[in-house]
Amino acid sequence: VTTFAGKKVALFGLGGSGFATARALILGGAHVTAWDDNPDSVIKAAAEGIHTADLRIIDWSVQSLFVLSPGVPLTHPKPHWTVDLARAAGVDIVGDVELFVRERRAHAPDCPFIAITGTNGKSTTTALIAHILKSSGRDTQLGGNIGTAVLTLDPPKAGRYYVVECSSYQIDLAPTLNPSAGILLNLTPDHLDRHGTIQHYAGIKERLVAGSGTAIVGVDDSHCEMIADRVERAGTKVVRISRRHPLADGIYAEGTKLMQASSAAALPLADLDGIQTLRGGHNAQNAAAAVAACLAVGVSAEEIRTGLASFPGLKHRMQPIGTRGKVVFVNDSKATNADAAAPALSSYDRIYWIAGGLPKAGGITTLAPFFPRIAKAYLIGEAAAEFAATLGEAVPYEISGRLDRAVAHAAADAEKDDTGPSAVMLSPACASFDQYKNFEVRGDAFVSHVAALDGVTMLVD
Ligand code: ADP
Repeated sequence: VTTFAGKKVALFGLGGSGFATARALILGGAHVTAWDDNPDSVIKAAAEGIHTADLRIIDWSVQSLFVLSPGVPLTHPKPHWTVDLARAAGVDIVGDVELFVRERRAHAPDCPFIAITGTNGKSTTTALIAHILKSSGRDTQLGGNIGTAVLTLDPPKAGRYYVVECSSYQIDLAPTLNPSAGILLNLTPDHLDRHGTIQHYAGIKERLVAGSGTAIVGVDDSHCEMIADRVERAGTKVVRISRRHPLADGIYAEGTKLMQASSAAALPLADLDGIQTLRGGHNAQNAAAAVAACLAVGVSAEEIRTGLASFPGLKHRMQPIGTRGKVVFVNDSKATNADAAAPALSSYDRIYWIAGGLPKAGGITTLAPFFPRIAKAYLIGEAAAEFAATLGEAVPYEISGRLDRAVAHAAADAEKDDTGPSAVMLSPACASFDQYKNFEVRGDAFVSHVAALDGVTMLVD
């Protein structure tokens, strides 16, 4: 029996995960009334038999819960009036993650639960932890912000492991989150348009680690450094991680080595050298956090090393998709602006760079520090002329226009390069909408163009 069986639940937000949550609530015996601002979503829900009603006119006095679907922040102007109505009626306002943690508490309070947040690297870290757990033979459920709505995961039971990526909204709406291990990777002033000040944003993220059995905190930025100290002073066990400097206690990267430091000694725990899917300093941070979390829930160092070495990476995020001789083909289609392209450009020394699409304000001027790594650029889409102007004399380039031509030319040039290993990389620093439906379709197109080349060994299907 679920914790919400027989209860009246109002739900706002019928996007993909809201829909999944509504279904799971109904399956678990709740009486759901759902709504969305988008009439099409409401029609779709009603057609499926989900009871729909404008939440302004329902009887709030009989509701037990108000569920805001993932992606809808508490402060969102649209459901705000509804939030006020729910509050006035004394109805508990929660997100799907809170419903999940209540289920876990009721049915299997000891099953390991790892929650991950931060500004960047959440999905990579979440996927990496789940991969390490799975590859060690553990029953593992992966969900949250990364894609699968948590309530649709297999239900909590002893011995089952949960790895859940949490957005700020989900943390905000999960007052009793309290994971076995919580990760706060980093904090940079992103998404501030929605969260107001960095203090407010940091405060939400801090809650995730403050309530953790073990708090794993990246201490390479000043906000997180302060959070680690504060959480530790409050009595929580803290494991610090750093990609930038040695720590007296915690897990840090020294080149490609991950070191585990304690008062007794600093010992190498794993080496990321040669793991294509975990290249770059940013991935050292992600891997250090994943290692710390796995250790916290009882995974052995040997199991961790095995899992790291076989991590397949995430689609469209600096994903090695094929090789030909000394050339590796890398799909970083998710990099839809210059900041997002920077980690990939910093992770390879000699790059045949395919860039362009629908440009964003500022273009690629901030990427100038990486220009020396670029052997040649192949520019596509609407941004081509602007990017060409920025590259100027600093980097050889051609205006390829279309992706298929860019791939063919970049692959041919890289093939002739006998100075050493190189990467043909799609890291567009642009949105895709001028030529593609979205970055996934663009990335898939890149993969199929690469697969069509002669003599490439593909690493993906
Ligand atoms: P998120 O889920 O937080 O959006 P992802 O794991 O999907 O993060 O990674 C998205 C992009 O962010 C990556 O392609 C990479 O460019 C960058 N990135 C990944 N990890 C980090 C990190 N630890 N620090 C900074 N940038 C990162």
